[in-house]
Amino acid sequence: TTILWNDRLVKEEEIHLSVEDRGYQFGDGIYEVIKIYSSLMFTVTEHIDRFYESADKIKLVIPYTKDVLHKMLYDLIEDNQIVDGHVYFQITRGSSPRAHAFPTTATEPVFIAYTVAGERPFEHFEQGVKAKFVEDIRWLRCDIKSLNLLGNVLAKETAQQAGCFEAVQHRGDIVTEGSSSNLYGIKDGVLYTHPTTNLILNGITRRVIMSLCVEIGLPVKEESFTTDQAVAMDEFFMSSTSAEVTPIIQIDDYKIGKGTPGEWTRKLQAAFEARIQQLVTF
Ligand code: PMP
Repeated sequence: TTILWNDRLVKEEEIHLSVEDRGYQFGDGIYEVIKIYSSLMFTVTEHIDRFYESADKIKLVIPYTKDVLHKMLYDLIEDNQIVDGHVYFQITRGSSPRAHAFPTTATEPVFIAYTVAGERPFEHFEQGVKAKFVEDIRWLRCDIKSLNLLGNVLAKETAQQAGCFEAVQHRGDIVTEGSSSNLYGIKDGVLYTHPTTNLILNGITRRVIMSLCVEIGLPVKEESFTTDQAVAMDEFFMSSTSAEVTPIIQIDDYKIGKGTPGEWTRKLQAAFEARIQQLVTF
């Protein structure tokens, strides 16, 4: 297995990271995850663009062009012969004597990327998952794909301790997003999802789903909804790079619809599958 360390493909043993790396001490960095299907990266341009946008929002300058980064990720995947799985990458502001403010002298950002082989979670796609309401205690810049994930970590842990797969986070009454996913409800043939404000991550899978809704003729309202409205939805699902379109069949003790994946959700799953096939055939 090789890992990308800055611009070099190396063995893990060769990597040395500073104890004063600002990513390690402050979570001062950003990341991305890209899904690999049949050795190809899905929505790679969108993920690379968002990586640069997140960097920009925290005033971190990535020392490579987008094309160079794309090529490096491609080489990493090829070197590790990944067929199905994902590539994780992050960049931190680098190492400097510990102080909150940005270093005054130029520091080199530290970039790491590695691949993970793995199967898609077909059982979740088929059966759906349970979720738990968790108060959204995160900061007000959830649009940045930052390494500061403590709020998300605590939300997921709370959900999993309760035997649920995902948290349905809400700020007061308003449902925002999952701990690592976007959320959607369908009521009377209309799909509702939180608008892409500072309170959620503008998911790449969410963008794909928005276009699939047009394709399958499902009207979309990018409007927030309440927890009460959430449990009264006919269908509910989550999306992310790894979860794709995963039905949510229960939130807390409330069954959604019949307590099984809904028909529109099934259509979206099929349409999503077709997008993957578009990538892998040619
Ligand atoms: N929201 C949060 C908080 C996430 O961590 C993720 C997964 N990275 C998503 C939404 C979904 O984003 P994407 O579809 O780009 O994976």
